[in-house]
Amino acid sequence: MGTSAKPNLLEARHRARTVHRILNITRPDDIVLEDIAMARGVYVSEGRLDGAEARLLRQGARGLIRVKADLPEDGRKRFAVAHELGHWELHAEMSQWTLCEADDVAAYANSSPEIEANAFAGELLMPTLLVRPRCEEATPDLAVVRALAAEFRTSVTAAALRFVEECRETCAVVFSEARKVQWWRAREGSQIWIERDLEIDRRSQAWEPAGESKMEAVPVNAWFPGREAKVKRDVYEQSMVLGRYETVLTLLWVIDHEDEDPEDLDGDR
Ligand SMILES: [Zn+2]
Repeated sequence: MGTSAKPNLLEARHRARTVHRILNITRPDDIVLEDIAMARGVYVSEGRLDGAEARLLRQGARGLIRVKADLPEDGRKRFAVAHELGHWELHAEMSQWTLCEADDVAAYANSSPEIEANAFAGELLMPTLLVRPRCEEATPDLAVVRALAAEFRTSVTAAALRFVEECRETCAVVFSEARKVQWWRAREGSQIWIERDLEIDRRSQAWEPAGESKMEAVPVNAWFPGREAKVKRDVYEQSMVLGRYETVLTLLWVIDHEDEDPEDLDGDR
């Protein structure tokens, strides 16, 4: 498989679920990565590492995952290990040295193997079976995202990406730095499109996020300037600063009133 092939996310997630099944993983507490890796023939060790958060080394039927000891968060470390385990399960034929060059694999995956390894890691750490019931009926809120991150011991970033996928409401997660959008992810098939490098609007919480903000309404054109208003759209947002990084995470909640009578538009949500 070349790096230009389209990523096969279904297969990646299916393989993670197969690992859950084989190892009888049914609760968040069961997701002990070192044990899972060991059961799959891979030994995990921490140590010094340059140029990547983690690396996979193959020695025949045995694997070794080296993870950077000084990664700042447990959740980020877990994601890095799960990502390498994804390469182990999915990419046996690839040279490991072409993989995982990004500083933060969860954020900047840009080739098929990296995207597949992230999909595997997301499913391994936050199984759909366990995560979906916690998200699908939830009212979009960063408190739910933080609770997910705590329960599954993942980074807030990984939990936010998972929440956006599983919540029935139309949400997006936006990462901005220096008041500019860096990247974003919306629920698959949603009508959300955000301009890359969009300057953060002064009216948005993301301009100057407070310690503990609430989900609140924001003018539509703060996030979607120049959008042609074919249907009425309500936008709610909530922002937080990510750990010690200079990044602001914003959860956007978008409600398009496509199927309503024009007369109902001024009604409450
Ligand atoms: Zn990788």
